[in-house]
Amino acid sequence: TNMVLKPIEMISNFVARYPKGIAGFKNFMEIMQIEPEIADAQDAVEVDKLKGEIEFSNVAFSYDEGKPVFSQLSLEIKEGETIAFVGSSGAGKSTICNLIPRFYEIEKGQIKIQGMDIKKIKLSSLRKQIGVVAQDVFLFSGTIEENIRFGKPEASEEELWEAAKKAMLYDFIQGQPKGMKTVIGERGIKLSGGQKQRLSIARMFLKNPPILILDEATSALDAENEMEIHKALKQLSLGRTTLLIAHRFSTIRDANRIIVVDAGGKIEEGSHDTLMQSNITYKKLYQLQQNGKAS
Ligand code: ADP
Ligand code: MG
Repeated sequence: TNMVLKPIEMISNFVARYPKGIAGFKNFMEIMQIEPEIADAQDAVEVDKLKGEIEFSNVAFSYDEGKPVFSQLSLEIKEGETIAFVGSSGAGKSTICNLIPRFYEIEKGQIKIQGMDIKKIKLSSLRKQIGVVAQDVFLFSGTIEENIRFGKPEASEEELWEAAKKAMLYDFIQGQPKGMKTVIGERGIKLSGGQKQRLSIARMFLKNPPILILDEATSALDAENEMEIHKALKQLSLGRTTLLIAHRFSTIRDANRIIVVDAGGKIEEGSHDTLMQSNITYKKLYQLQQNGKAS
């Protein structure tokens, strides 16, 4: 048929290894929505590592015709910046980020990376530029090593361990009788939410993309794990353009810029202090969190 799963690069790898009928596979299928195929343009080019400069100009996008998530979104992100997106659930933060790897096709306008329209870049090349760490970590039943190597299958042993160290997984892996060869998933050990997140961070250290998307990466974790993972993510974002979606204001304050996203694609940018004055959504979300902590 003409349908393909969302993170296209994952699929071949994944299907090849995953025995049929395992529950995890079903979960994976459920998490990844099925989307109409997005194909390379005939003149699409292969690119090496791009600079993480991102530009949205007058982007219109809707999932369902006639119900635009944005109709004129413009946004410029400089290389190496960390941009925090803040807004109510459903406002469109994840959508903005998911348009950059072209998980969805825009209707109008342009998205450029290092001045190149992303439609002119081969999808496989484009997606090598972008690393995503999200709340739901995609793991397959296999060894720890295989799961980390997913970020860069040809990585050397040394690179593999380096990535594990940077993701603060070293002690955990060393503590397993089978080390890197420890099987995870249904037939092996079960990982905690924090360990899964570390594994996905190790993958990203290996992949080493110039652009990083952190979509609520720590929101399902307990406070202790959250602090540690937060540290690892800060390390990971060094030298990369980082799009950060976080609900905790302690994390948001790390960003160079804060962008508030409201339904209808209205965005407002400012510092914490100016947004507290000028943006009702921002102020509400902030106060909600302060109240949450107090109770
Ligand atoms: P946020 O990340 O800010 O919570 P999203 O970008 O996920 O918001 O969602 C923006 C809007 O698009 C919401 O109205 C949401 O219901 C809708 N939406 C998100 N993903 C899909 C999808 N795959 N199909 C249809 N509608 C979607
Ligand atoms: Mg979201």
